[in-house]
Amino acid sequence: MRPGDKLVNKIIMIGGFMQQYITHVSFGYDSHAFCNTKDTLVLGGCRINHIGLKGVSDADVLIHAVVDAILSGVLRKSIGEVFREDDPENYNRNSMEFLHYCRDLLTQNNTSIVNIDCTIICETPKISQYSHEMCKNISNALDIETSKVFVKGKTRDGLDNIDCIICYSVVGLCKK
Ligand SMILES: [Zn+2]
Repeated sequence: MRPGDKLVNKIIMIGGFMQQYITHVSFGYDSHAFCNTKDTLVLGGCRINHIGLKGVSDADVLIHAVVDAILSGVLRKSIGEVFREDDPENYNRNSMEFLHYCRDLLTQNNTSIVNIDCTIICETPKISQYSHEMCKNISNALDIETSKVFVKGKTRDGLDNIDCIICYSVVGLCKK
């Protein structure tokens, strides 16, 4: 018997704690360039008073990286393959809708999220002051505990001047 087996999961639940084991890990990535004509940055579902990002949807680069990881783990497809840039339905779209799609997809595939770990790379804004709110937004949209989500910020430490925000996301999944 292995941790992913149905019987083992049942025994674990009967044991009184909902310990979940990761059956596979998936990785997501996204980047968006800054856009001089936008004065609101949408990041992790937070609306921040800061120069915004270029994009077809609301350009929420963090949410896109999380969605990219979930879609690759469940469908073996990237976010660009599922939510196409040339589809008018995605113009100015709220990226939280992509997470709602992922929540339903996970349920349909009997897969749950064990944890989500994200890194946002940018000089500004300072991510630490928004991190908890971002974790709450992501966990609410996916209907999981906030403690399963972690978002941290890193700067490039002055190594380059790329005018964009980059996000990486790793998602631990449990296929029942
Ligand atoms: Zn994107």
